[in-house]
Amino acid sequence: MTQTQSSAANGTAFDLFARLENTDHEQVVYCQDRATGLKAIIAIHNTVLGPGLGGTRMWKYSTEAEALNDVLRLSRGMTYKASIAGLNLGGAKAVIIGDASRDKSEALMRKFGRFVDNLNGKYITAEDVGTTTRDMEYVNMESDHVVGLPESMGGGGDPSPVTAYGVYMGMKASAKAAYGNDSLAGKTIAVQGIGKVGMHLVEYLHKEGARLFVSDIHDAALQYAANHFGATVVTGSEIYGLDADIFAPCALGAILNAENIGKLKVKVVAGAANNQLEDETLHGDMLRSKGIVYAPDFVINAGGLINVYSEYTGYVREIAMAQTENIYNTILAIYQRADERNINNQLAAIELAEKRIHDMMLVKSTF
Ligand code: NAD
Repeated sequence: MTQTQSSAANGTAFDLFARLENTDHEQVVYCQDRATGLKAIIAIHNTVLGPGLGGTRMWKYSTEAEALNDVLRLSRGMTYKASIAGLNLGGAKAVIIGDASRDKSEALMRKFGRFVDNLNGKYITAEDVGTTTRDMEYVNMESDHVVGLPESMGGGGDPSPVTAYGVYMGMKASAKAAYGNDSLAGKTIAVQGIGKVGMHLVEYLHKEGARLFVSDIHDAALQYAANHFGATVVTGSEIYGLDADIFAPCALGAILNAENIGKLKVKVVAGAANNQLEDETLHGDMLRSKGIVYAPDFVINAGGLINVYSEYTGYVREIAMAQTENIYNTILAIYQRADERNINNQLAAIELAEKRIHDMMLVKSTF
């Protein structure tokens, strides 16, 4: 039986090159180790700007096609995030197929580390959903091409405070675009999700004198925000229809859909969550036509990536913070391009990210 016939017999027939026909991926690596049960896919999307950096996600994918789709989509997103952040980094990502709570072991992570090492630095890994700092320590025992290590090992530690700072800077730039100045004092700001990033953001906003509304599914976090930052707690979907100035999604993806956008009364949406727009064109356009300034998520939440990248070049927290501060200027440049081209902010950000890759490809065209 041929390979295609055998996967067809299992009901998972797909042709990898046909699947890649409409993407620009450079390399897709399948990694298998029967002894540890490792089944991983590493997707390297684009390395024009530098090595591809992206975390390793461990997830219970129900089919191989589902895992492949995820790693292709996520690695492309990393290319844009690195490019628009001005980093000399390409985009890549890895997925490990399995249940992180049951199937993960030191041996599996170290075996994965050896596969990462085989790529000789073309791919740099980090933690993601389903993997931890400890897992990256295991990878690091087999490869130098890993970031997101604890401070005790010369790493940058938890990137969330840096991500929050970038969101704060992007929010200020967005306020400038919407209200004519970037002060958040006296502004009413609704934050959905006060986890690792959201809580640090709330702290910045409280310090600047914003009035805060918060929602979360964890009561302890809500209590903390109420007690320490004077935040008012709201429940569930109430957060979308609040009479507020700014909405900061810091929990879930795909929450900017027709129904929720219809409820929004804010002038600015600026938050950390990944993939906020259910559909980049449709819902990006919907926000623009409602006069809402939307800060593209992959631009505003790049602080975490900036932080781990600076680990690769020799970690200095001040340098990471200064680079993250520049998100303010990048956001304003995106809004200017969106106005010039009369397109939504998300599409303008993608255009600028692609333009930088194109320009640098020309720079590298001669010795
Ligand atoms: P987190 O898990 O620490 O926080 C998410 C919070 O959202 C949790 O407190 C959770 O209880 C809450 N939540 C879940 N469902 C909710 C709901 N229905 N309504 C309200 N709250 C809900 O995650 P995080 O690290 O703070 O990241 C937040 C978002 O930012 C994620 O989308 C993440 O992918 C993205 N992001 C994070 C970083 C980083 O450095 N941590 C970097 C880039 C992007």
